[in-house]
Amino acid sequence: MKKIAFLFLLIALQCLAKPPIKYLKNGVAINKSNVTYHIPSNLLDSLHILYLGCNNVMMKYKNEEIMFDPFFSYQAIEKVSLGKIKFDEIAISLGLDRIKQAGFNLKNIHDVFISHGHYDHVFDLPYLVNHNAFNNSINLHCNTSVQNELFKFKDRINFITNQSPTCDSNAYDIHNWQQISEHIRVLPLKSSHAPHVLGVQFMKGESNSKKFTKYDTTTFKSNATQWKCGEDFSFLIDFTENDKPVFRILMQGPSIKPCADIFPDIILKEKDVDIAIMVIASNQFIKDYPSHQLSRLKPKKVILTHWENFFRNYTKEPELGTNTNHDLFFEKAAKTKNKDWNYKSDSDMFIMPYPGTKISLY
Ligand SMILES: [Zn+2]
Repeated sequence: MKKIAFLFLLIALQCLAKPPIKYLKNGVAINKSNVTYHIPSNLLDSLHILYLGCNNVMMKYKNEEIMFDPFFSYQAIEKVSLGKIKFDEIAISLGLDRIKQAGFNLKNIHDVFISHGHYDHVFDLPYLVNHNAFNNSINLHCNTSVQNELFKFKDRINFITNQSPTCDSNAYDIHNWQQISEHIRVLPLKSSHAPHVLGVQFMKGESNSKKFTKYDTTTFKSNATQWKCGEDFSFLIDFTENDKPVFRILMQGPSIKPCADIFPDIILKEKDVDIAIMVIASNQFIKDYPSHQLSRLKPKKVILTHWENFFRNYTKEPELGTNTNHDLFFEKAAKTKNKDWNYKSDSDMFIMPYPGTKISLY
């Protein structure tokens, strides 16, 4: 019964799918080609950000690379709701081509961070691992739900369970920074998943490892609903020179509820946030999102993720996502403009990249 209601809702949303477009109402361009921006900082080299779709993002500084939420196998809505989901090798191969074309190299990846356990954030990781896309066993920074989902790959994945600070900003510990390479460190921030539809969040709780015992990367099919969220994380990423942060990025997980959008003074005093990477999906269900984050952080640019319809095959021209009020996101953002944080126009502040687009900062 629950499943049928879920299917009904998803199909209704699919009917609302919007056609491919080049610009949003407010003039924000959907970037199809790589872009470069100058942002004053003490970076000694260019920093590259590659958007690959959903929350799948890579970053590269001085040949050190990091990856978030690898996923290419976009699934048709009927498979997600009533059928089974499986790997899409053509989509994965396109994703790998995009990585290569952008000058990134998965062999340089030692650390992958996962925001939460839903299939559209972690599903393709074992495939990449088993097909030797990475050089060695990787460090996977994730919650216990993801650890349960991928337990069969424990020989090739070194699980690092994210520390989980509370929503209390005083409880943050600056020692939770995880140094992942000479010039990159990451701080997981506790977050909270947005509802999917009409205030309801699906796939809550922890995944059960018993449902993943037959998981292999050739024949395995699963119900999308067995990929449960678990604890949800956003991340701060620092790029450092001589152990001092010179550039800081917020990598926001799925739109978060107000409780979690705490950025402790102690951390922001050390370094402000230069770039915010923010999920636009489901923003309409959270009143203070992205207003609270933007007015607190005043980033110099905002890169938007999870904007496209991920029920549509990855190899097709992207469309705006269903069930997301894109315009409302910008309206809420505009309300946060003040004398300390102002921007020329939405099209100057916000970047909405096509999957495969590289944003370079220097
Ligand atoms: Zn999710």
